[in-house]
Amino acid sequence: MTHTKIAIIPGDGIGKEVMEEALKILNSLQEHDSSLQIETTIFPWSSDYYLKHGRMMPCNALDILKEFDAILFGAIGDARVPDDVTVWELIMPIRKNFQQYVNFRPIKSLPGIASPLANGRDIDFVIFRENAEGEYSDSGGRIYQNQPQEMTIQNTIMTRIGIEKIVQAACDYAYKNGKTKITSATKSNAIIHSMKFWDEHTRRILAQSSTALELESIYIDALVAYFVERPQDFQVVVASNLFGDILSDLGSAIVGGLGLSPSANLNPEKAFPSMFEPVHGSAPDIAGKGIANPIAQIWSLALLLGHIGRSDLEELIVHAIETVLREGIVKTADIGGQATTAQMGDAICQEIIKMNLAARGV
Ligand code: NAD
Ligand code: MN
Repeated sequence: MTHTKIAIIPGDGIGKEVMEEALKILNSLQEHDSSLQIETTIFPWSSDYYLKHGRMMPCNALDILKEFDAILFGAIGDARVPDDVTVWELIMPIRKNFQQYVNFRPIKSLPGIASPLANGRDIDFVIFRENAEGEYSDSGGRIYQNQPQEMTIQNTIMTRIGIEKIVQAACDYAYKNGKTKITSATKSNAIIHSMKFWDEHTRRILAQSSTALELESIYIDALVAYFVERPQDFQVVVASNLFGDILSDLGSAIVGGLGLSPSANLNPEKAFPSMFEPVHGSAPDIAGKGIANPIAQIWSLALLLGHIGRSDLEELIVHAIETVLREGIVKTADIGGQATTAQMGDAICQEIIKMNLAARGV
């Protein structure tokens, strides 16, 4: 019997709305499966919390979270708080302190969902985005403020061990899942220090790997074009923090949009909790209307369950999502329908219950 502790951080805007649906699914799974023993604790850390307390989360938040097996996160972002505050005081400390150096994002064509690409069928690849260093750094600064020679420097930090770990994680995944090729995003023709270093160590790790994986290195500007022109050619894409961020939003778009895309911030060694969250943000343009698509959040829950050893439940949820989409049972506005967030959550929940009963021959 597994007894697992999950921290829930709904966050802001639609984060709170879609999280309700993920919790609905989790509760229903627990009701129908006594071997699933999950204890959830909800933390109200958000922009509202910031406006009340002057910080996004309490000073001992990381100590509190450390005791959990995993974190399910919604989204943050609120017009009343600068975006760099919400990101650097909540998401970044969690990703960096818990060494969640892999940001894993599956990009997969879904039944019943039209891609904006004319050739957007049978897309099935994953992105391994480096998640703990790289271009997203607070190293740098500004001098000669308000003078004509005013300037800024923003440093990229790449370490040998950091590159080694993300590339190795991508290789391990490729090996386990029968993939034959790794695509590395680069720009070493122009960004000659960090990107050459990235290329060098990526090549070395692939060369040392006991598995025969092909490595292709593609300049980021060409790679975004290839994502549009021939997305079927990719299997496992590995990229630095910034390149991976951009590629994964584009990846979401070519398979149907942000409302459908989950992600996992992983500490593969399981020394610290990993965090699971939709790729999308708090979507202020639709927040409060109850029309956000909860699939990205529900799928993130599925990835979490897979991570804690219940890939049977991960598959069950993904299967239920695919059934609802294939049959067009309900559709939210982002995928051409009029259903509410709750109606989509309910439909997926019903599908899970049906499949659970069918599996037991009821
Ligand atoms: P966004 O992802 O919030 O929204 C982009 C567009 O996609 C919007 O039109 C939105 O309505 C739509 N969209 C997003 N999720 C959807 C869903 N589930 N269903 C239907 N439509 C959906 O990105 P943005 O507008 O660039 O940023 C808004 C805020 O979110 C900012 O404050 C930003 O900093 C924050 N943000 C947070 C995260 C995070 O929490 N990890 C990620 C990205 C952006
Ligand atoms: Mn992004």
